[in-house]
Amino acid sequence: MNKRRQPKLGQHFLTDTRYCSRIVDALGLRADELVIEIGPGHGAMTELLAARVRRVVAIEVDPGLVNELRQQFEQAPKVEIVHADVLLTDLSAICRQSDVNQCYVFGNLPYYITSPIIHHVLGFAGHIRAMGLLVQREVANRLVANPGTRDYGYLTVFTRLYSSPRMVLQIPPGVFSPPPKVHSALVCFEMLSTGRSVSLEDEEEFLRFLKQSFAYKRKKLINCLSPVYPRQRIEQELGRLELSSGARAEELSLEQFIALFLHLR
Ligand code: SAM
Repeated sequence: MNKRRQPKLGQHFLTDTRYCSRIVDALGLRADELVIEIGPGHGAMTELLAARVRRVVAIEVDPGLVNELRQQFEQAPKVEIVHADVLLTDLSAICRQSDVNQCYVFGNLPYYITSPIIHHVLGFAGHIRAMGLLVQREVANRLVANPGTRDYGYLTVFTRLYSSPRMVLQIPPGVFSPPPKVHSALVCFEMLSTGRSVSLEDEEEFLRFLKQSFAYKRKKLINCLSPVYPRQRIEQELGRLELSSGARAEELSLEQFIALFLHLR
């Protein structure tokens, strides 16, 4: 195995085969589906995925690893290795090429771009049936956080718009080579059947509203939103939702954010 590693690409490879099996068991894969794998690395999970599903398309940015993977999976018709940056990849086109409407997205993510990857991938929410993402434990805590808790923030509400995430497995640093400095966790996401929980006429505008709401952590929501909406109206609409004028963004559920947005716009 080629041990050359580019630290800049967040390369921490899974080497503990017991954990690899536990991860694939936890994903809830269906035999007839397409899996899009983000960052296959040396293919530790790719092989296990291919044994369970109809087809795996694995997207890797490192050209050295791509060469290695193409040799490794030369005789595996189920596996396609794509040399690309996942952040520039159209997942809906991969689904179309595989003659499916929806896929499963799996990735032991490069931690330095976890958030951009989640944002990019959820841009294709309608083409995803479910996802399993291995992320830094702190990010996992944010993804599954409840309103009113320390970890609840923009990323939490953003992902809730499209999916319901669940913490599935804690993963210690020692199962990777080289071991990362942080603990990891597997989070599985069931996508909401409509692609998002509530139909919004203008999703982009809602996401801007959400960002503005969380612009100043721990500041009152009214102060975050007052550069955009008149204070009096914000106060009035918060009252209508039975929220105090001192409420903070961290306290609102997705449904409350949507209601506030629809009333304020
Ligand atoms: N899946 C492998 C495993 O579990 O052993 C490797 C996981 S490693 C944490 C992350 C992988 O993502 C590396 O192979 C890295 O080269 C790749 N990667 C980093 N940035 C990427 C990007 N923008 N697009 C696609 N792959 C990327």
